[in-house]
Formats: sequence, structure tokens, C-alpha cells
Amino acid sequence: MKNASRYIVPLLFLLAASLCGQTSKANPLPYTPGLDPSAMDRSLDPCTDFYKYSCAGWQKKNPIPADRTAWSVYAKAYEDNLVLMRSILEDAAHASQRDAVTQKVGDYYAACMDETAANQQGISPLKHELDAIAAIKSPHDLAIVVADLQLMTPGSSMMFGAGSEQDPDDTEKQIAAVDQGGIGLPNRDYYTNDDAKSKENREHYLEHIQRIFQMLGDPAATAKKNAAMVMGIETALAKASWTSVERRDPYKLKNKMKRAELNALVPNFDWHAYFAKVHAPDFEIVDVNAPNFYTELNRQLKSEPLDHWKNYLRYHIVNTYAPYLSDPYVQESFNFYSKYLRGAKEMRPRWKRCVQYADNDLGEAVGQEYVRRVFSPELKQNTLDMVQRIEQAMEERIHGLDWMSDQTKQQALIKLHSIRNKIGYPDKWRDYSSVAITPRDFAGNVRNAVAFESHRQINKIGQPVDLGEWAITPTTVDAYYNPQVNDINFPAGVLQPPLYDPKMDDAPNYGNTGTTIGHELTHAFDDQGRQFDAKGNLRDWWTKEDAQKFEQRAKCVSDQYAQYVVVDDIHINSKLTLGEDVADLGGTILAYIAWKAATQGKNLTDADGFTPDQRFFIGFAQWDCSDVRPEQAREYAIRDPHSPGEYRINGVLVNMPEFADAFSCKAGQKMVKPEGKVCKVW
Ligand SMILES: [Zn+2]
Repeated sequence: MKNASRYIVPLLFLLAASLCGQTSKANPLPYTPGLDPSAMDRSLDPCTDFYKYSCAGWQKKNPIPADRTAWSVYAKAYEDNLVLMRSILEDAAHASQRDAVTQKVGDYYAACMDETAANQQGISPLKHELDAIAAIKSPHDLAIVVADLQLMTPGSSMMFGAGSEQDPDDTEKQIAAVDQGGIGLPNRDYYTNDDAKSKENREHYLEHIQRIFQMLGDPAATAKKNAAMVMGIETALAKASWTSVERRDPYKLKNKMKRAELNALVPNFDWHAYFAKVHAPDFEIVDVNAPNFYTELNRQLKSEPLDHWKNYLRYHIVNTYAPYLSDPYVQESFNFYSKYLRGAKEMRPRWKRCVQYADNDLGEAVGQEYVRRVFSPELKQNTLDMVQRIEQAMEERIHGLDWMSDQTKQQALIKLHSIRNKIGYPDKWRDYSSVAITPRDFAGNVRNAVAFESHRQINKIGQPVDLGEWAITPTTVDAYYNPQVNDINFPAGVLQPPLYDPKMDDAPNYGNTGTTIGHELTHAFDDQGRQFDAKGNLRDWWTKEDAQKFEQRAKCVSDQYAQYVVVDDIHINSKLTLGEDVADLGGTILAYIAWKAATQGKNLTDADGFTPDQRFFIGFAQWDCSDVRPEQAREYAIRDPHSPGEYRINGVLVNMPEFADAFSCKAGQKMVKPEGKVCKVW
């Protein structure tokens, strides 16, 4: 909830100042071509399983590393970024002359790498917090301690989520918002699903909580009792929370009320003390995203004695900070969350974790040097051209839609023309100068960085919206559309080979990066994005008839993906993935049209034995060559709004006759849908 928008869904679900004018010399990242014939298996039939045809070689050459739960072209590209960031951070740690930015990132990394210090400190970095929890004597104390703990906790796991959001009715303004949260498992369904695997997950989670209490010195029997207490509270909160599908409905999340009404909804929580402690600017209206959750929270605050809540907070703060503490805590966190829940075989080496923490906590500081090294103005211009061509294709597409009235088309065009294109990195870098970072206290650095971000979000209340802000860092290998800002965002990290390959021609580049651009653009018009207008306000600009026609078309996509199996007997929850599936389909069609327009009149030649059209589609499939462990696949199926890689490719192409033509696929083959069954939204 501390994020800029609840509606941002990056392209993948991975683990979220002006430049000096120097252009980068040789790109220091390892090079992989945008179309890689050796990643294919040409002995397979492209008309049976195009994903396997394009990616089987990649899968064979790239087994999932022991320390990973999934592996993909994107994950590998980010791994390459980690190596580059490591050298940036090591330089910063050892440089003799350092500016403010270099000092922050260098000391942050050095402190993180100091494993000996972390092991010596044990739990002591949290002593202040644990003492404060122990000293709670009243509901007033509870609210104040919750406020402090929330400030230093990313996300919404500490009782509930709170911060600011763009007013859904007037996106030029920021308002206060509170949301559901308070749980330690990845999603509320983990508490409510009744299948054997879910029950087993809960038993393991209970044991994990118990072990944390024992590490804090509770005798086994007490730890067991306390764990059951925590689980009881979390389960009640989870049951009262919206599901992921419900959360895709922006009207469900909009429950603006006066501050006094929030007090009346949750009278058992001292909101006055809480908001004073987080230093929230004065406000009158608060958006309560999940009212049922708050009704239940109020009930729990009454029925659960204060001592139970103290145990709940004790567990949550230690669980949150476990990865930054001494070895036993790091190991316990890894064992439950990565190994058991997601299937990792080994822990990631410390340097990788430290680089990633630095990217999370000080991303726009690390990103400045990264951009200098890998993102030239020329690259920015070339990718911006591509974006503009794809927007042009969308315009033509809207004009040509046979199912939409002129009235709705006009509104759609206004929205399209208002989209902000953000390429590479922010125009203005975030200023971290107020974050205290020392080379000796890693957990303290994390606390300071998270608190900085929490305050940054809270301080937005009552302020105008900063349209230049980015929700992901420049090194991120991902992209997103934010319907409330109406912007598409492509960081420098996602515009590198093999995704965007300046050494290659247009066919694979449009197939790969072009379809990604088209994907984000289509989000402006998917089943969720279409509910927001050109300014990002939640306003219905559709005629009733056009909206119905849209829904029919979207249902075609949803019915198609509901057939696909993720793992064992688990099917895609296609109501959760609908927006992404619509964006995948629309984005690929748009990129194809834009590529045709960009290369019109050019004499395109075959390469590696493939026609230009074939190369476009192979480039497309190879953006998402990937593999996933079954445990991780299960977790994705519950909470990830994206379909698995093979369906993000094959599920799109069965709807494109251009694909069947390119590979001479015949009716009756798996990659060709029967006539009349083809889905087409945009
Ligand atoms: Zn998406």
C-alpha cells in the first residue's frame, strides 16, 4: 500500500537529476542476441507447441540455478545487472573521494557485506523495538508502537497497510489511505484454501512462527502457544480481506470516508495517536480500501487480549527483519519462505542479496551510475521511436474497430493521446540525503531507508501528484502501466539485449521489446485499465453497449485461459490473469502492425533460415523463455496476475492468423484455433 498505486502490475511478478551528459562507452553487460537460434529446438513442430519450439534449447542450456525458484530470460538479465551493480557498489564502498550518493550506496553495501558484524549483533538491532513492545500497557501504547513498527516495515504485514494514494476521483490530489494486511503468508488465500497442500503450508508456517519465538527465548510450550495466537489473528484478518480477484475491481477498493467515520468503523484502535505518531499531515478524507478487513480488525482488537497483540507484533517485526539479522534468523527465513514455500535449493550468495537490498532501498542512487554505463541517449531515442510507432498502431486499431461506437472511440483516442511515455530513468532523481547510512549497522540502515520511504509516502497526503515519479528502479528488468497516472514505464534495465538488441534488425526487436511496449499500452484499455479516463480518474467513459461488447470479447480470452493447467490439477485463475492476458494479446497484435509499418517498403531478408515474419514471432516467444519449480508455480497460481510463460506465448499466437500464415500451420493443429473461436479484443 505504500506504493504509488495499487493498480501497478509489472510485466512480470519478480521479486519492485540530470545525467552528466557522458554517453556510455562499450556496454559492460554480457551480450546475448535478441534472437538466438541456439535457444530453439528446430526438430519440434512450431504448429504444435511454438513455445517449446522457440525455447526448448534455452531451457536445456539454462537449468534453474539452485538458489532460484524460477528462471527466465528476464531473471537472467537481472542477474547480469546484479554483477554490474556489484562493481558499482564495490567502487562506491572503496572510493577515496565520495559524493553524497556514492557514500550512501557504498556504505550501505559495505555494512550489508559485513556478515561478522551481523552475527555478533544477533537480535540486538531490534532491541529498542522489542523493549517498546514489551512495555505496551494500553490500547494507546499499542497504536503508538504499531505506528513506529509500520514506519520501518515495507509493505503491509504489520497489522494493516497505510499511506497515501491518488484520489480515485481526482488524480491530481493525494489522499490518505488504509488497506488490508497483517499477514505473514504471501496471500490471504493461503489461510482460506482447504486443499491438502494449503493445510500443509499452514502447518509449516505455524512451526516457523514457533521457531522464531523460540529463537527469541520463549520455552517450547510457550512458543507453541504464542504461534497459535499469531495464526489465529492472521487467519481472522485474512478471511476478512478482499481476494486478489476482488482487488482488481477499483470500485470495490474505493471507500472514501471522513476521518471520524474511520474512528467509528474501528473504535478499538487509537487512530488519533497513530496518525500523530506517523506524522501524517492533517487530512479530512481517508480511503478505506478494505472495509470488511477493518470491521474484523476492530473485532480482533476487542476479543484478543493486549498480550496476544504484543506477541503478534514481536513475531512480525522479527520475521520482517530476519533476512538482515544474524545467521540463524537469515537461515530460518530462507528455510520457510524460499526453500519450503517456493522450492529454492540453496540460499543466494550474500553479495547478491546485498546488491538486491541496495537496489530495493536506494534504487535511484544505484541507478544513476548504472544508467551512465548502459543507457545512451541514442538508445533512449531509438526505444522512444518504437513506443511512438506502437502508439500510432493503437490509434489506427481504435479507428478500425468494428465493434465500438464513434462516441467511445473518441474517448479512447483522448486517453491514448494523453499517455505519458517514460523511458529509461526518472528526469529527476530521488533525493536520499536525509537517509542516515553508516558502514557498521546494516539492520539500522534498512530501518532508516524503509522509514524514509514510509515518510515519503505519508507526506504526499494533501500534496499534488508527482507525475514524474517511477515505481520501479532503473536497473529493474520489467515494465509497467499505471492507470492513475496514465503512463507507461520502461526502465533502462529492460531495454538491454537480448530484450532490446541494437545489433539486431527490427523483426526480433519488435517481436520482443515491441510486444512489451504494446502490452503496457494495452493495459490502458484492459478490463481494469479501461475503467480509468485520460486523467487517471475512475470514470466510466464507455457507452453501455460498447462496454458489453468489450466484456464479451474479454470473456473469450478468460474462457480460453481457464482451460490451461499451471501445475498438477491447478488451472489458471483466469479472472485474476484477465488484464494481463488481454494485454499480451493486444500488445502482440500492436507490435506486429507497428513493425509492418516501420519496415514498409524495406527489402527484408531471411536470416538463419527464417523469414522476417518468422523472426518476429521467434523474437516474441524468446522474451519469456523460462522455467519454474513446481512449488513456485503453485505460489504464482495463487497470487500472480500473469499466466505462466508458455501460455503467455502460445495463448496469444493461437489467436493470430498472421502466426499460422508465417509457419504454414494448418487447421486442426494445436497452434491454430478452429474458425470462429479466435479471440480479439483490441
Ligand atoms: Zn502487464
